[in-house]
Amino acid sequence: MQFIDLQSQYKCLKDKIDARIHTVLDHGKYIMGPEVTELEEELANYLGVKHAITCANGTDALQLALMAMGIGSGDAVIIPPFTFFATAESVSIVGAEPVFSDIAPKTYNLCPIELEKTIVKYMAHGRKTLKAVMAVDLFGLPANYPEIIALCHKYKLLLIEDGAQGFGGSINGRKACTFGDISTTSFFPAKPLGSYGDGGAIFTDNDEYADILKSLRIHGKGGHKYDNVRIGMNSRLDTIQAAILLEKLAVFDNEILARNMIASKYTNAFETKLTSPVVLDKFKSAWAQYSISSENIDRNHIMEKLKEKGIPSNVYYPQGLHLSGAMKNLNYQKGDFPVTENTTQSIFSLPMHPYLKEVDQNVIIDNMLEIIK
Ligand SMILES: *Cc1c(COP(=O)(O)O)cnc(C)c1O
Repeated sequence: MQFIDLQSQYKCLKDKIDARIHTVLDHGKYIMGPEVTELEEELANYLGVKHAITCANGTDALQLALMAMGIGSGDAVIIPPFTFFATAESVSIVGAEPVFSDIAPKTYNLCPIELEKTIVKYMAHGRKTLKAVMAVDLFGLPANYPEIIALCHKYKLLLIEDGAQGFGGSINGRKACTFGDISTTSFFPAKPLGSYGDGGAIFTDNDEYADILKSLRIHGKGGHKYDNVRIGMNSRLDTIQAAILLEKLAVFDNEILARNMIASKYTNAFETKLTSPVVLDKFKSAWAQYSISSENIDRNHIMEKLKEKGIPSNVYYPQGLHLSGAMKNLNYQKGDFPVTENTTQSIFSLPMHPYLKEVDQNVIIDNMLEIIK
């Protein structure tokens, strides 16, 4: 059994993906070829957003978003401490200060009440100018955007949506990766919409940001290729990756349905015994991960027992980013973010992918129930 089974998906889509790859090999436009433009149009249509701009990976997407907003060394950006390192890293790379704000239990996303406290406190005592909130759609669940957007308006902050795990989710029918002034995603193979290598995309309705982003991803190009008008990056999506993603996007909605059915079955089985992930009313998760917390039974014991039965599990994430070595200079302490710190001690993730067979899920559930009984 695999934690995320990419081969089963490839088997289903093999003929179409192989044909798409061969088309690229035949036309030879490996960088910024026609499939890149086609994918950007399809992504924009899918989300209902004006501009979709692909790039080399989800980390660059965040960095490019910050650069397009002009966020740099005098600025600060609020982020959750419970996320993948790239969220914090992108803020530090542009020279800005990551300011952490604790998550809510069970949704694992930024807690709006804590967020307002963090904003008020930083505006009064912070070292730099607070410019933006970078919210994360952790494990596929969109952050609480109705409340976060209201706070951003109230305090005149920009909003970046780190939708690396969120693509495919929605709130009240509005799709994830459309909530930020700029939103981003990642096409890393294990993400809900993953390719066969690195890739990422940036989404916005703002024409000015879109123009800057298209320049930034190609060395700050101006009117022509060798007229560089700003310092940018080399961050483009390979044409072959775009070709693969076009075929995966075509079946993506069915995959999200399958993920949601698998998640419901897990939750029905475990919700009275463990802390199951909560999806708020009107929210839909893309279920990048199915993560569950065990308050009473040591998770290492559960994971060991699962492993003995050939069932893989993983811990996302074992440490709050405020306690990571790279963030030491920010002087955060143990105890600063209790919800994050408790979660990092008790959470673990079960196999989740759209091709998980019913028999295999039954084996996982039966073994889990036996271990925790
Ligand atoms: C994966 C991930 C990223 C970075 O994406 P890459 O494509 O791996 O660079 C950023 N933020 C979050 C929350 C992620 O899960």
